[in-house]
Amino acid sequence: MSASTLVGSIPQEDLVDSPVISVRDLVHRYDDRAALNGVSFDVRPAELFGLLGPNGSGKTTLFRILSTLMVPVAGQAIILGHDAAKEPSQLRREIGVVFQAQSVDLKLTASENLQHQGHLYGLHGSALRARIKEILERVRLADRARDRAETFSGGMQRRLELAKGLLHGPRVLLLDEPTTGLDPGARRDLWQYLSILRDEEHVTVLVTTHLMEEAERCDRLAILNQGKLVALGTPTELKREIGGDVIVLEAKDPEALAMRIRARFGADVRVVGNQVRIEKDQAHRFVTNVVEAFPGEIDAVSIAKPSLEDVFIKRTGHRFWTEGARTSERTDNPRARKH
Ligand code: ADP
Repeated sequence: MSASTLVGSIPQEDLVDSPVISVRDLVHRYDDRAALNGVSFDVRPAELFGLLGPNGSGKTTLFRILSTLMVPVAGQAIILGHDAAKEPSQLRREIGVVFQAQSVDLKLTASENLQHQGHLYGLHGSALRARIKEILERVRLADRARDRAETFSGGMQRRLELAKGLLHGPRVLLLDEPTTGLDPGARRDLWQYLSILRDEEHVTVLVTTHLMEEAERCDRLAILNQGKLVALGTPTELKREIGGDVIVLEAKDPEALAMRIRARFGADVRVVGNQVRIEKDQAHRFVTNVVEAFPGEIDAVSIAKPSLEDVFIKRTGHRFWTEGARTSERTDNPRARKH
């Protein structure tokens, strides 16, 4: 984090004059297990803001607090001037929420789903019918209005969820991992739609994700790890803080190799998992020197431009995914397998 003045846990320059969402020193615990540990950030008007973190980092907890489903142990979450803990009913009228769990009734048509949603917000009659028509056109489901949701693809069902969240015309939309279970095409589609919402309707969008490629598409990001904010900024700003390229070396004994590279080249070398990682300008020349200096000791070499995972590693000292988490993500979660 920059060396500028800190207010709570955010640097002064990241405070916004009139933020749409303002999170201050949010703390939450489940019994004695800490889920959020003093998280602060602001979201600007018409910003596509991402909350990125590995499983267990506190995204869902924060999302539940913002969407008024849960009251934090300490701190404040204010959206459009309403305190989520103190004025939940006023706030609910002004925000749209798309939860991870399906809320669409599959036995009802797209139109019927939206009628029920409209009634919850006090919309009726011709105004509601006109609004349903408009929103179905916007999410490209107008031609399927009379079809049951069970006949829709995963991407179409998600777009119907989105239509439900947007029906009452909220200025803020909160989405919890909205692309879970979608194929890459439907995922791209949804993100494109979120950008259109921001650009054309000036909706402020906050979205949680554990996917780096989705986080890259956000205007700004808050990165969470174990209930703490570890980074805040645009994807470009965050990656720029890493000097040069990122070199990853694989070796049988990474600790020993790291020590020898440090001694020989004086480079900033760290071991993360079973890899040796070095941030360096003119990486190609450096790698050639290292490989020549330690013949036979290096099994694999890669050089890449800094990624958000590199930012996460730099801030936390460990990888975004532990190997176990990646494996269970791939094999235990049938929705994740479709990624
Ligand atoms: P994420 O959405 O990033 O996976 P969560 O907010 O679900 O993170 O979880 C943050 C932490 O709180 C984790 O350690 C998780 O195990 C714990 N946690 C979440 N929900 C509960 C709950 N209902 N009861 C107890 N612990 C919970």
